[in-house]
Amino acid sequence: MKKVLILGSTGSIGQNVLNVIKANKDKFKVVGLTSKSNIKLFKKQIEEFDVPYGCIASDETKDINIKSKKILFSENGLLEIIELTKPDILVNSLVGIKGLKPLLYAIDKNISVIALANKESIVVAGKLIQERLKNKNIRLMPIDSEHSAIYQCLKNENIKNIEKITITASGGPLFKSKIKNKTVEKIVAHPVWKMGKKISVDSATMVNKGFEYIEAHYLFNVPYEKIDILIHPQAIIHSFIKLIDGSVLACMFYPDMRIPISYALGCGKERILNLAKKIDLLTLNKTKFYKPDYKKFPLLKLLLDCAKENKNSYLVAFNAANEVLVEKFVNKEINFYTIHKVIKKIIHSHKPKQINSVEEIFEVDNKIRKKVQEELMAD
Ligand code: MG
Repeated sequence: MKKVLILGSTGSIGQNVLNVIKANKDKFKVVGLTSKSNIKLFKKQIEEFDVPYGCIASDETKDINIKSKKILFSENGLLEIIELTKPDILVNSLVGIKGLKPLLYAIDKNISVIALANKESIVVAGKLIQERLKNKNIRLMPIDSEHSAIYQCLKNENIKNIEKITITASGGPLFKSKIKNKTVEKIVAHPVWKMGKKISVDSATMVNKGFEYIEAHYLFNVPYEKIDILIHPQAIIHSFIKLIDGSVLACMFYPDMRIPISYALGCGKERILNLAKKIDLLTLNKTKFYKPDYKKFPLLKLLLDCAKENKNSYLVAFNAANEVLVEKFVNKEINFYTIHKVIKKIIHSHKPKQINSVEEIFEVDNKIRKKVQEELMAD
């Protein structure tokens, strides 16, 4: 029985992880769950899976009454619960930069398998994470579907033989449709994936694909020049690897996160059963590919340019601005266009530098968050 701790269990990924575990109760024991605000679902999960430890990662004190379970509070509880549960597998499905400290803590604590859905931590601290993982026997298993696909294709390949890694993108809700009134409801209604609000907005701007480009660079240690992006609206092929001999490897499955989650829980060694629908090859008749339109998705272009710069504070700044603006858009405080306008302004006025410590990352993050507020006030 492997002990599993899920950070962010009430989000879309967290719920899917529990769904896979439910079908494999002989293999996994859930030892801890954390949530920020969905207390009702959190309580239900704790009871259903008989989980000994929980954490409400919020500074607001919540009235929660769960008998004979230890429930922690505050964001610090996310670290404490790692220490208390000592899991074999840690699932980090937190959203945003707040996933970074728990990730680094888990690395310091030598948690043997870290299943990572929190892409923002790689975006802001890719190099630092790589350094911390050095000389450690830790398996970092990507939960992102594209990176799970790349991981599976690369498994028996020498990195020297890769000519290109192609990350596919569904194109999001704005790829073909002419949505004029870009309301939160229309933007979060993704054509193929059912996801949380933040990542749905990131898909609509295609910032998500830019994040995944950076994620691929750090997870697989491949230079940016060898990574590209292709639009594939059906989201059946999740990535391609082109090898120097002309072979192309691809990984296919219907867009259902339970498949990459199962692969991560199996640690890349064992295949875990789940209830996801199996692929019907006849559906591939309708498979199409397009080049990304950088004019239509200027934030994707801007993010890729930031990634290729040698000064990584660009990525911290981009992520901080994006987090604040997406939250405001989801809360209906700003419109969709403002996300673009303010990020552009922030990046163009940013004085980039190379940053190498957690403290510096959070310093830049805080500064940019304040600056975004100022920009919005002045608007
Ligand atoms: Mg993805």
